[in-house]
Amino acid sequence: MRYLDSAKNARREETKMSEPITISSLKVFIKKPKIHVVSFGCQMSFADSSEMAQSFLDKGFSSGESLETADAVVISTCTVRQHAEDRAISFIGRLRKWKKQKPHRLLVVAGCAAERLGPKLKERFPHVDLVIGAKSIESFSKIIEDVLSEKFDLASESATDFPQTPISTQGAAACDFVTIMRGCNYSCSYCIVPSVRGREKYRPVQIIIEEVISKIEAGVKEITLLGQTVNSYQSEYQGKTVKFPELLRILDETKGLKRLRFMSPHPYYVTKEMISVFRDCPTVCNYLHLPLQSGSNRILKMMRRNYTRELFMEKILMLKSELPNLVLSTDIIVGFPTETETDFDETLSLIKDFQPAWIYSFKYSPRPGTLSSTENPDDVPSAVKEERLARLNNLAREIGRKALQGKVGQTVEVLEENENFGRTRDGFKVKWKGGDKSVGEVHSVKIVDASDFLLIGEK
Ligand code: SAH
Ligand code: SF4
Repeated sequence: MRYLDSAKNARREETKMSEPITISSLKVFIKKPKIHVVSFGCQMSFADSSEMAQSFLDKGFSSGESLETADAVVISTCTVRQHAEDRAISFIGRLRKWKKQKPHRLLVVAGCAAERLGPKLKERFPHVDLVIGAKSIESFSKIIEDVLSEKFDLASESATDFPQTPISTQGAAACDFVTIMRGCNYSCSYCIVPSVRGREKYRPVQIIIEEVISKIEAGVKEITLLGQTVNSYQSEYQGKTVKFPELLRILDETKGLKRLRFMSPHPYYVTKEMISVFRDCPTVCNYLHLPLQSGSNRILKMMRRNYTRELFMEKILMLKSELPNLVLSTDIIVGFPTETETDFDETLSLIKDFQPAWIYSFKYSPRPGTLSSTENPDDVPSAVKEERLARLNNLAREIGRKALQGKVGQTVEVLEENENFGRTRDGFKVKWKGGDKSVGEVHSVKIVDASDFLLIGEK
């Protein structure tokens, strides 16, 4: 059985790609083999999984709704936090039986955890056929092409007989992601991303435009552009350098596009030019997720975030004064090594000044090979992390409640993502009663109530 591992071997594997691959002595013929993708963790991993699924569709597979009917399963993994990796690992373990039931089945593990664990995954789970790390994601299609032609008899089926639209594992046709860059040039001390995804690589503007157009033509209404520091994007196009704000201006022109979002920007690249795009481009939504991580300058320095709390707040104040309707959210890590009560209080006080509408909060988890995990013991006790997380979340909930209550009585524009559920342009989740169910449509919904993190509406 052939074994593809990741990073270090990616180059070596590329040169080996044209060699014959023996997966099994038996080549199976299945009329319409089915591919099922499962993604764990971040949006990046979800977006990658759509691309991976597309590679199978292009080769003549059809989309499988469930594990039971699937002939091939791709698991797109994330390793940013231990929890995301653990969930993927436990899922892989559970597929042992699935594979045994029909040995022709193909199990591919891809993405960031695959990159980090490499050959160890195969040693622990011999039922895994292929491990394709995040750094080899661009060669994914070529790699599986070789494997599929060995394992499945697809020759008598024409690839064009099959749907060409990407599979969405969330089933939400209204909204989709487009990856515009991969990797990261920063080196935040807690973060495993640079080591599993490598340095920044930008997708060409033309490819991004085409991908956005093809998704819109397939019925998508809202696109979220993805990158680890998405607003550091730049690429040559038609003889000039297109930076992130310019890319937004170009995409804003796409016919049929209703909403454009992006994730996650880095505070360093929040500039006046970027702000002016929010004003000028009707599709760019008035919502910004701007990760802070900590409010303590001492911790920010240890995290190597390249800004102070003062600099971060300066950006926030600029955003709020230039764009009064902008809704903001953020990421916070609690319990970073050596974090004291005083440090944590600084985070709470900054959150009070900042007033994000909601936050994503995480307990620090040491990731193998990162600077913080090698330089510092994970010395904040788990119970302290829990307690700080609860205090932070309570504060964030209180702030969020005010933002949500402020919407009660208003009529808002909601894009329906699932039946009677969607989001406002500024990112609030809305559930409503009444009206026709029409996923993908924009509705005017009267907000009558609000619970934690959710607006309740009527049509
Ligand atoms: N590129 C983005 C974030 C990517 S990871 C940025 O620069 O902000 C998503 C979030 O996971 C981070 O914002 C951080 O809050 C959290 N995170 C990353 N590594 C972590 C770790 N080791 N422990 C806990 N949370 C972590
Ligand atoms: Fe990780 Fe920092 Fe890069 Fe974000 S900016 S992906 S947190 S290294």
